[in-house]
Amino acid sequence: MYADLSCSSGRSTERPVLIGIYGGTFDPLHYGHLRVAEELIDTICFDQFFFVPAGEPRLRDSPGASKHHRVRMVSLSIQNNTRFSMDDRETKRSGVSTTVSTLQEYHQEYDGKAVLCFVIGADAFVKIHCWHHWRELFQLCHLIIVERPGCIRVSDSTQLPQKILSECASRWTTDPRDLVRHFSGMIYTADTTLLDISATQIRSLVKTGKSIRYLLPDITLDYIKTHNLYSGKNEFR
Ligand code: ATP
Repeated sequence: MYADLSCSSGRSTERPVLIGIYGGTFDPLHYGHLRVAEELIDTICFDQFFFVPAGEPRLRDSPGASKHHRVRMVSLSIQNNTRFSMDDRETKRSGVSTTVSTLQEYHQEYDGKAVLCFVIGADAFVKIHCWHHWRELFQLCHLIIVERPGCIRVSDSTQLPQKILSECASRWTTDPRDLVRHFSGMIYTADTTLLDISATQIRSLVKTGKSIRYLLPDITLDYIKTHNLYSGKNEFR
């Protein structure tokens, strides 16, 4: 059994490669995302942690910025953090891309030897039963759920849709060591700092000419200004 996940004790050669995958539209990436990732990496000693910007989302409106701009903004935002990487595979696919196919690709690339942990906010998790082949996710990865202010608390399971409740009943854990004790299928609820920041709020502030400073890295803010993103004028995609 592989039990020690702490980064301070060093990586045990016995445990599988542990990969964190944070998917999202990232339109744009903000401190809500970045802080969650930073705290998760401190708790769970991932060997690699990827931000994976979505291509064409299936379940929401088209993003305000093009794939190219969203990828650039993620890449700029994480450039000084050696613990973070970006994987732009979904933006390179044509048509709608799914998390299931991304996870399958990871397993192929790591020869079935990696444990994948997919990070998801509570607001997205409560709609997970609408995702393409959602039950397959539990064969492919663990879920790490992060709470969001203003959203139902997933720990208060009475508020979850029945389909999710029955699929997930035996999967919950608050012990990160379960993520290496099992290959997939656990749902770890993470206790990360609640930051009430959303990309919707950022886009709307830009549109109304208000400041977005301190909601996201300055370098991303400069990029948004330089390329006139979200302002509704001269947006070149
Ligand atoms: P939008 O407002 O456009 O819906 P968003 O801020 O929710 O965007 P996404 O790119 O859609 O950002 O989110 C990617 C993932 O990150 C989702 O699982 C979402 O729940 C989670 N997330 C986004 N913002 C936060 C936050 N402030 N705290 C924790 N999780 C977050």
